[in-house]
Amino acid sequence: MSGHLAVVGLGPGDARYVTPEAEAALAAAQALYGYGPYLDRVPVRPRQSRHASDNREEATRAAAALRVAAAGARVAIVSGGDPGVFAMASAVCEEIEAGPDSWRTLEVAIVPGVTAMLAVAARIGAPLGQDFCALSLSDNLKPWDVIERRLDAAAGAGFVLALYNPISRARPWQLGAAIERLRRHLPATTPVVFGRAVGRPDEHVSVTTLAEADAADADMATLIIVGSRATRVVQRNGQAPLVYTPRAVAEVSA
Ligand code: SAH
Repeated sequence: MSGHLAVVGLGPGDARYVTPEAEAALAAAQALYGYGPYLDRVPVRPRQSRHASDNREEATRAAAALRVAAAGARVAIVSGGDPGVFAMASAVCEEIEAGPDSWRTLEVAIVPGVTAMLAVAARIGAPLGQDFCALSLSDNLKPWDVIERRLDAAAGAGFVLALYNPISRARPWQLGAAIERLRRHLPATTPVVFGRAVGRPDEHVSVTTLAEADAADADMATLIIVGSRATRVVQRNGQAPLVYTPRAVAEVSA
């Protein structure tokens, strides 16, 4: 029997963001694995088992799904946003690399989804219209000084920054420290976007500046975009402002 494992991105929240490819992979699965709140977004289908697990149990969940797929089942693991962005696809690859040879013969499909930074950017204009990079502020899987060095390098080189995993109950100070750090490199007026729960009923998107940015305005469902020196805010009468980064780069330091 040859099993099949799909690692499926559900997008940021709203069903409109689930791609037809993701829909098809979910419909075809005999067993679904995932973090409970993500699994809750997937409609219940008959003859399909559901295995919810905790957020931090990515390796165990990946191994469990691989075992079932290796036994011949069609399995899908769900992920919020895109499965390859700070999510399950790497956990699955890690388990395959470390696991038994039989896991290497499995057919594995990574099904992309709309990642949070794209959903937030689209709400506000085009802040990622020039070179940008994505950083996770979580120091669960990497030391904090690596994060600081990456913040320094990225902001110093003129990248727009998309900050994932900004804050949680277990990581209360990291976002404040990151904002402080970025103030060393960037002007006080640098636009900063807080996008919370984008694509969900409690969505909230706000624009501020690096000087005014307050870590208390973020929670674990928030993605933060910090502009570069080139990022601009266009005020509009009767419409929300547009935050964008122009396509042309004028100076090396821009
Ligand atoms: N794989 C996911 C990211 C997982 S890391 C993706 O591609 O989007 C989890 C972080 O993603 C959260 O802490 C938050 O920073 C961001 N995030 C996920 N969904 C979001 C949403 N709907 N709105 C804003 N940020 C979101």
